[in-house]
Amino acid sequence: MAKIQMKTPLVEMDGDEMTRVLWQIIKDELILPFVDLKSEYYDLGLEYRNETNDQVTIDSAEATKKYGVAVKCATITPNAARMTEYDLKEMWKSPNGTIRAALDGTVFRAPIQVKGIEPCVKNWAKPITLARHAYGDVYKNTEIKVPGAGKAELVFTAEDGTEIRKTIMDFDGPGIIQGIHNKDNSIESFARSCFNYALDTKQDLWFATKDTISKIYDHTFKDIFADIFEAEYKEKFDAAGIEYFYTLIDDAVARVMKAKGGFIWACKNYDGDVMSDMVSSACGSLAMMTSVLVSPSGVYEYEAAHGTVQRHYYKHLKGEETSTNSVATIFAWSGALRKRGELDDIPELMAFADKLEKATLSTIESGKMTKDLALITSLKDVTVLNSKGFIEAIRETLETL
Ligand code: NAP
Ligand code: MG
Repeated sequence: MAKIQMKTPLVEMDGDEMTRVLWQIIKDELILPFVDLKSEYYDLGLEYRNETNDQVTIDSAEATKKYGVAVKCATITPNAARMTEYDLKEMWKSPNGTIRAALDGTVFRAPIQVKGIEPCVKNWAKPITLARHAYGDVYKNTEIKVPGAGKAELVFTAEDGTEIRKTIMDFDGPGIIQGIHNKDNSIESFARSCFNYALDTKQDLWFATKDTISKIYDHTFKDIFADIFEAEYKEKFDAAGIEYFYTLIDDAVARVMKAKGGFIWACKNYDGDVMSDMVSSACGSLAMMTSVLVSPSGVYEYEAAHGTVQRHYYKHLKGEETSTNSVATIFAWSGALRKRGELDDIPELMAFADKLEKATLSTIESGKMTKDLALITSLKDVTVLNSKGFIEAIRETLETL
């Protein structure tokens, strides 16, 4: 069979440890035999990031802006232990942080649902997609441990020297304070990414904050969403038959538990961090979750939501067998190829992406899976495969579709 031809290169960001091992097997077994892969390869493995003083990460983000679609393998964010392990020149920043900052995006995460791995919230018939604002708030905070009695103030000094000053607290003893911020243009991008994604996927959009308590900070998020919706999206939503609605975060949490799923839940940075772990755990595993960063200018970066699975990698290095779940990484590839097909008008590439996902899910549904899923499945008599064996089983299914 002739391989599927591509037009524009896909930005390929390789990564670290066990996911790097899976990356190569996925390419060899599931991509290269079927697609004449055109990719611009960036090695974001920690060794090469260190060698290039992290320039390779910046270059890969620039290439993503240029071509529009990237697929990324999980990467190590160095800490003190990695400094010695990899003999690093510097404790390089998180590649995800660098890429998000360059693309100014929103991260969308949805559970991958498959028969035999049922969410523990029984009424969730369809996936719930989390849209997490990836900028600011407590992730870029300034904190002080207050040593004792004194006055804490919030001061803004404009470029012309004028000041806005408010008292945070007149402390009568020790305590803590924290300063956080966000920017209107980042919130606007967040809003547009969410509205576009809702239109793209034809799903309702929910957004929730705590604006009753945070009357300026959270209320600004609410207002920006409402203004952009009215001015730019209301008619498009009406035409698509989908809805945008805003509610308080506590009301949203209560409603989510009773909902059927099939909608997008937009969250501020911290809420999105916490709630996406809740939704994914309720659906089984971080390896059963898609993750895509969407920039307001329409650039897409597909990845797995989990890390490099370090513990499995050390077993692999010792020559021991591993059973690491590659589903999220396979779906990163299928998502990126489908988007490339959409943008370049290559229906065969889009159909291949659908087939690859279908083959992955059918393989699991036929009882062949990795250990993490075997532990939670409701299917009987399952076969636990090793990391490579699972990908080979998917290839067998794929050949039959
Ligand atoms: P992790 O790689 O997500 O793995 C944590 C544990 O979760 C594993 O030990 C394993 O549990 C289970 N697990 C995760 N993914 C799995 C999969 N695909 N199949 C089967 N089990 C899976 O997190 P980590 O070990 O804490 O972090 C390792 C490195 O990843 C760190 O250096 C961190 O910086 C990096 N990281 C990268 C990203 C990213 O690039 N997107 C995200 C998070 C973390 P068992 O050991 O019990 O089997
Ligand atoms: Mg988290």
